[in-house]
Amino acid sequence: MIAVIGAGPAGCYFASLEKSSDVHIFEDHAQVGMPVSCTGILTDSVHGVIGDIPEELIVSRIRKFKLVAPGGRSMYVDLDKVNMILDRAAFDRFMLRKALDSGASLHLGERFEGYERRGASYVVKTSRGRYDAEMIVGADGPFSAVAQAADLYGSRSFVTGLQARCVFPGLEVGVTEIRLTLGEFSWVVPENDTIARVGVIGPDTQALRRDYARLLDGAQVLEDQSGVIPVYDPHLRLRKPGESVFLIGDAATQVKATTYGGIIYGLLAARYLAEDREGYERLMNAMTEEQADELIDIFEKNRNKQIIATHDRDFPSKFIVQLLMKETKLWKLGFGLLKNRLAGKQA
Ligand SMILES: Cc1cc2nc3c(=O)[nH]c(=O)nc-3n(C[C@H](O)[C@H](O)[C@H](O)COP(=O)(O)OP(=O)(O)OC[C@H]3O[C@@H](n4cnc5c(N)ncnc54)[C@H](O)[C@@H]3O)c2cc1C
Repeated sequence: MIAVIGAGPAGCYFASLEKSSDVHIFEDHAQVGMPVSCTGILTDSVHGVIGDIPEELIVSRIRKFKLVAPGGRSMYVDLDKVNMILDRAAFDRFMLRKALDSGASLHLGERFEGYERRGASYVVKTSRGRYDAEMIVGADGPFSAVAQAADLYGSRSFVTGLQARCVFPGLEVGVTEIRLTLGEFSWVVPENDTIARVGVIGPDTQALRRDYARLLDGAQVLEDQSGVIPVYDPHLRLRKPGESVFLIGDAATQVKATTYGGIIYGLLAARYLAEDREGYERLMNAMTEEQADELIDIFEKNRNKQIIATHDRDFPSKFIVQLLMKETKLWKLGFGLLKNRLAGKQA
């Protein structure tokens, strides 16, 4: 059995791509996708990683930012890429459907509690039983119990996203309002002309909570959607050395350092791990944030999807080289990755 811990987007996507016919997903919560702790913002680039997203999962689209200074002055900025605002719970169920359609089994309301090594395999302990597994994938979010059990937790740190879905005054459909000086940043993301996802992010301090109260002034809260986000740690091990225990997604702190968005990086990691277990850690750790963004953009192009589908699976740089042949822009990226890897070896 391959035991995937956590039925978030990263775990479900990995389960949908994994070629073994015996994949089991263990999910602590009683329902996949609930409770929601996310704004649900994704750019169109996600299509390059997972394919099309059904229209019914997209609640709204954002084409502009409105930056508002404390004194009330404001300016509009057109976005290069349209932001899709997802129904996050429905998106998680969509990813779960992909996994189930590929033959994975789901154990709902069953918490991972630890594992023991037995020769080359493992006994996975959950709140309901014990299972023999040849591989364990920790996709169990920021406080990953798998990372803790495997001694891969590191000295990770976190920020807090305080967010509510609320009835909010003065919304402009298609425009995300950013109130400057609140938290590390703040957002008012409209679902329509009356309801928005409104939040601030930063270290969990009194000042952040004051900023949040100021932002919510005049709003009618419908649902609290606050949560914790891990800060990306480029030195974290993504695999227990020499073993078949891996981390992906928030469990591996794979969150964009500039925006704290984690969905797309978790999906990218899930894909790499499913395609190339042995190269996974090396490839993910060799990539800078800009390079990951670039790679996602390049995936978006249809002609490259085909190469990804047929690439030689046993070495990731062969796959990069295949892409290089097709895409001149990738030469820069390929050299960049090589440089990072060499710099890593010298350090
Ligand atoms: C307020 C807020 C706003 C955000 N907005 C965005 C955004 O707009 N765009 C974006 O890209 N990212 C956003 N993020 C980050 C995003 O939500 C995460 O990066 C993303 O959910 C990570 O996906 P994942 O599959 O790795 O983990 P998760 O979605 O956290 O899934 C982990 C799963 O593991 C389960 N689990 C945990 N422990 C156990 C256990 N011991 N046993 C079994 N199951 C377990 C959990 O119940 C959960 O279902 C936001 C986060 C917050 C808090």
